[in-house]
Amino acid sequence: MSKEITKRTKIEIAKSPAGLEGPGFFATKAEDVIGLARANSLWPLPFATSCCGIEFMATAAAGYDLARFGMERLSFSPRQADLLMVMGTIAKKMGPTLRQVYEQMAEPRWVIAVGACACTGGIFDTYSVLQGIDKIIPVDVYVPGCPPRPEQYLEGIMKIQELAKNESFRRRNSAEYKRMLNNYGIE
Ligand code: SF4
Repeated sequence: MSKEITKRTKIEIAKSPAGLEGPGFFATKAEDVIGLARANSLWPLPFATSCCGIEFMATAAAGYDLARFGMERLSFSPRQADLLMVMGTIAKKMGPTLRQVYEQMAEPRWVIAVGACACTGGIFDTYSVLQGIDKIIPVDVYVPGCPPRPEQYLEGIMKIQELAKNESFRRRNSAEYKRMLNNYGIE
């Protein structure tokens, strides 16, 4: 901010404490730096079973460009993914497979339920369709729509980035987190 503006608006810039910043460096917390790195290098596993998956392809392609979020490296191996994106109708028969994929992902892992079907079963209120993936695995962000537009996918992804950026190192080892997994029967 120029001296002129500072003078006119009477804003005083506080000086940072000695040793926290200087030419070419500033001090911060490891948690903040690692959170920033995690948030901007998410490796998504697209679990796409129907129409919502097609919309995801549009989100990943040049027009919306998922690479802007450091997410162009899609992973089809759960062990090399940290963001499970469930997009499409999940039949009850498919539930155990989805759960196995989730269990094979290493911590920290996040889950987005994309579209009405993944969130709630959508229009398929039938005996064969799972009425929401949160019946079998924990979900961090829900993206509504049938299908959602790519902008909604991106908004959901940015919400996950916020979670990743601000998550404490201790959360995954906390009794509360373990209790939540135990509620799903996951060790
Ligand atoms: S929410 Fe709509 S668009 Fe998405 S998978 Fe279900 S029926 Fe298809």
